[in-house]
Amino acid sequence: MTKEELATLSCPNCGGLLRPNILWFDEHYNERLYKLDTVLRIAKNTGILFVIGTSGATTLPSYIVENVLQYGGYVIDVNIDENEISKMIRPKKRAVICRETSDQFLGELNNILEELQTK
Ligand SMILES: [Zn+2]
Repeated sequence: MTKEELATLSCPNCGGLLRPNILWFDEHYNERLYKLDTVLRIAKNTGILFVIGTSGATTLPSYIVENVLQYGGYVIDVNIDENEISKMIRPKKRAVICRETSDQFLGELNNILEELQTK
């Protein structure tokens, strides 16, 4: 990247790099930008985690899934493709792998929740 290109990515106020809220290679999740500790604490108290359309190729989704399972929650992987999350949860008892699109799955879930509300 040239100096000119880099300059276009700099904050006019502080000169820091402007960035989308994503993790670059060689960076680590932290509390300040990614709420790492908060997310993992919430995961420990999660009853059902829906992992929808994620490859699971990065570490944070995997940590969240591990925490949910370790503390007694259920994990439902919704994805049309095999992925790292499904590989991880397949042998677990409290896990379901759902090979549907997010559209299909969320539509069905919505119908189920609406039906439950009318009971
Ligand atoms: Zn700035």
